[in-house]
Amino acid sequence: MKDWSIFPWQTSQWEQMVHCQRSGNLAHAYLLKGLPGTGKLQFAKALSAYLLCMNPQASGACGHCKECELLKAGTHPDFTLLEPDDPGRPIRIDSIRKLNEFAHKTAQQGGRRVIILSPAEAMNVNSANALLKCLEEPGEDTVFFLVSARSGDMLPTIRSRCQQLNFSTPGRDVAEQWLSSQMDDPAVIAQLLDLTANSPLEAKRFAEQGLLEKREALADGLKGLFKGKVTPVELAKTWQSADLALTLSWIIGWLDDAIKLGLNADSAVLRNRDQLKMLEYLARKSDARGLLKERDWLMSQRQSLLEGGNLNPQMLMEGAFSRSLELIL
Ligand SMILES: [Zn+2]
Repeated sequence: MKDWSIFPWQTSQWEQMVHCQRSGNLAHAYLLKGLPGTGKLQFAKALSAYLLCMNPQASGACGHCKECELLKAGTHPDFTLLEPDDPGRPIRIDSIRKLNEFAHKTAQQGGRRVIILSPAEAMNVNSANALLKCLEEPGEDTVFFLVSARSGDMLPTIRSRCQQLNFSTPGRDVAEQWLSSQMDDPAVIAQLLDLTANSPLEAKRFAEQGLLEKREALADGLKGLFKGKVTPVELAKTWQSADLALTLSWIIGWLDDAIKLGLNADSAVLRNRDQLKMLEYLARKSDARGLLKERDWLMSQRQSLLEGGNLNPQMLMEGAFSRSLELIL
């Protein structure tokens, strides 16, 4: 049950939930919250499997019973995982209405019904209100798991209906150990964890999607820009189809480090030590005020992207690059 088991850094939350279940104190709704890349959705799936399994062990679902087989096949009639149709878009109100019907049906396998919503903040006001109704009048033996990395964006009335389970990034040693079981090169592992603030799942995604190389290419693009080899418009053409929020977050990270260098911080505290030369150049050519202003602008643009704002990609990246260029002029 690989996708239906927890990660090594989630044992305390797991033991807490197993205890709740065994003592008959399971709430009908939980909010699993914490930073991206901490494995909250997988935890919710592992817990769903545990709750539906006919022979659950303290360590999780058995993986062999009829319920487990149905789950693995994606055909369990009493389990629903609701996600947006398109990543980054809201969950539709029709889907929440269907969920409401599902939550009030009798469980077909005679046990519980389990519902996961992820990401739970991806809802407009109407969907959120429809969900609130579900949570206020839950069907018998229905358990909701709401998964969110941005629970502050959820309706407070929804949050307050849920018991909260917090997930944090594991310590460096746990993260390193887990990543070593996924990949070989210790130097790459160290760099990935530096770049993702010790988030092992983000680190794994970086490796799988070749994001280290993309980030390197972005740094090369910026260096070319500073040397006058490429214009902001040309560079924006290359980057307008990339993952814009991630691209902006890389530039933001570099500016953060340049600000630290400008304040005479030791290079050991930097998160992007592999780009030290460029960061030193930025710190030398610009002042903290300019760097901060640019960083804040990028953060606000990134925020509106994450909120589903319709920004023109070419214009956005042109803005990001021409403002970066102004920093050193
Ligand atoms: Zn089972």
